[in-house]
Amino acid sequence: TALTLSALLRATANAYPKNPAIVHDGEIINYQEFDDRVDKLSAYLVEQGIKPKESVAYLFFNQWETLAIYHAITRIGAIGVAINHRLTPVEMQYQIDETRSKILLYDESLKEIAGTLTELCATLEHFVGSDGDVTNDLANETITNIIEKPLPDNTWAESDINEDDDSGIWFTSGTTGKPKGAIVQHASSVWSATSTALSLGINNKTRLLSAAPLFHRGAMEDMHLAVTLTGGVHYMVHKFNPLDVLERIQRDKITHAFIVPTMARMMLDVPNADQFDLSSLQCWMSASAPLREDLASEIRQVFKLAPQVLTNCYGITESLLNATCLGDALIASPTRVGLPPPGMSVRVITADKSFILDDTPGELVTHGPTTLRTYLNNQEAFEDVTFEADGKLWYQTGDIGFRDAEGYVHLLDRSKDMIISGGENIYCVEVESAIAAHPEVNEIAVVGMPDKKWGEKVVAVVVRKKGALISEQGILLQCHNLANFKHPREIYFVEQLPKNSFGKVQKKEIKDLLDK
Ligand code: ATP
Repeated sequence: TALTLSALLRATANAYPKNPAIVHDGEIINYQEFDDRVDKLSAYLVEQGIKPKESVAYLFFNQWETLAIYHAITRIGAIGVAINHRLTPVEMQYQIDETRSKILLYDESLKEIAGTLTELCATLEHFVGSDGDVTNDLANETITNIIEKPLPDNTWAESDINEDDDSGIWFTSGTTGKPKGAIVQHASSVWSATSTALSLGINNKTRLLSAAPLFHRGAMEDMHLAVTLTGGVHYMVHKFNPLDVLERIQRDKITHAFIVPTMARMMLDVPNADQFDLSSLQCWMSASAPLREDLASEIRQVFKLAPQVLTNCYGITESLLNATCLGDALIASPTRVGLPPPGMSVRVITADKSFILDDTPGELVTHGPTTLRTYLNNQEAFEDVTFEADGKLWYQTGDIGFRDAEGYVHLLDRSKDMIISGGENIYCVEVESAIAAHPEVNEIAVVGMPDKKWGEKVVAVVVRKKGALISEQGILLQCHNLANFKHPREIYFVEQLPKNSFGKVQKKEIKDLLDK
């Protein structure tokens, strides 16, 4: 059997037809039913003339439909484009235009945005809402109707779909510029599932809280697919709410959850957060943004988690969310992010792309079956971030790090964020960690700004805790263990930091604001 997404779901549906696959809004969908609904949605897309290699866009929250549509699109050899519902219509239009998607499936509550997209996007011809009334609505059909009808007998040549066919276009977070569409293939998606299941101990007893947004590849192709591969159950979190998430981990005895640092902060700020019983958790996976020591120890202490439960994964849309993984997050060292899972290699290179063998910092590069095939409409950008060595294709992450004597990968900073002041390299993460350890600091971002004398200078932007009065002097005192050249030359206090939908601090925006 080819390593296709359809083969993956069908194998699980055959092995565990009666096992619950998805719990959403009180409804329990077992694997047989899940697979049947996928078939009906696939048949519908074929009926609308969707051919293999064509793109289909979908706009949802975390709900059963998101999972079913992802599989329905890939089952017929078409290419899925998950649209982030927090983007502006113009940002969405860019992704729909670039992917030339003809159909948009959307959640009923997002129908106004879908309506705006009809006017903006020339390629869109057909609309499918989750439910609602098709007679006086934008939707040509609804998912509720599609799954209520018997399976039509139009078929598709599933066996013609190969593992090296494209399965999806995943847009990156856009932290460093405009989001890029990473094109991945079926085998790459299936390998993501396998690597994640192995490194996070996911199996048919797993109860995953699906809290991180499924329009990011990591949430869908690592966590969701790993759980589908092994026959575990997904508890869908329609929209993230910190109190709700705490209640549900406790009530549903969740074993695995992907919770990014920003979500963790919000959960810690829930009144009486320490009263929740989270003892069922085997893996609290933190990924996508730095997990600082102060936050890690607060999570462990407040939620009474055993040290190995808090797992820090380092990864990239283009490669794998858990390109490296570390249970016992940050206990041995504040920069250690772990070991690559089976099938993935992570190495370090110099500026001229030779491999560094000792523990000197350089750019982290990855090689593995989960790597993107190319960027959508931008082969040049793909060539800029890949190179061949030792007969393998390596992807350049744009992150700075090193490997220690035991083979563990350490992450220091993004190369675009690293500050070079007076010829010294300064890793923002190190300065941020020192300042964040102060009890009156809620959030912190350190950026490099141009400086006539030193080339760049360190600038700190601080969000104080409610009612806190910490001054510039207090912030500087907090840096007493750092070399003087790492101390902030300017400090600003603000109400909040700009963040994207994954809770990542947008340093580009901060720099633009400081520049004005
Ligand atoms: P863009 O490529 O559009 O600028 P992005 O780099 O944020 O956006 P993603 O693929 O979502 O796109 O994020 C990958 C980056 O996130 C990594 O290169 C790394 O800088 C950061 N990252 C991921 N995991 C971690 C982690 N555990 N700790 C610190 N940083 C992380």
